[in-house]
Amino acid sequence: MITKRVLLTGGAIGLAAAAGSRWWTTPSRATETFPVTHTDAEWRALLTPDQYAVLRQSGTERPFTSKLLHEERPGKFACAGCGTDQFSSATKFDSHTGWPSFWAPLDGAVETARDTSFGMVRDAVNCTQCGGHMGHVFDDGPKPTGLRYCMNGVALTFKPSAA
Ligand SMILES: [Zn+2]
Repeated sequence: MITKRVLLTGGAIGLAAAAGSRWWTTPSRATETFPVTHTDAEWRALLTPDQYAVLRQSGTERPFTSKLLHEERPGKFACAGCGTDQFSSATKFDSHTGWPSFWAPLDGAVETARDTSFGMVRDAVNCTQCGGHMGHVFDDGPKPTGLRYCMNGVALTFKPSAA
């Protein structure tokens, strides 16, 4: 009887640890509901394989591969998943990291979640409208915010301003 109780307790602790671990390593929070929702099959049809890997599977594109890296025109950078404007060209800067970088998002466009995958503590940046994973935010950016929103270019589309 004593042995059984110990086993049950140990099992409960193991389950709790597993549940906690899952929460912290799942920044895209698949259980959360968003204004824009699609089934997994629909996302696969809507997105390119590279876009799907980043937006829906929290992947990271290879650095220096995005054509948006040197996009210098005025305009808005929008979520490739749902089209919501997320960053203005006015906050874009060259971080020399190989990923498009911004020092601030547009109001309400993104949310952050702690991401401890790959043995690092980072804050993942997700689209508030579709939950898509965009990139990460770090605190080594330029003034005025001191933040560096390190984005996957493949998760963004660029909309140049009308001249
Ligand atoms: Zn989105």
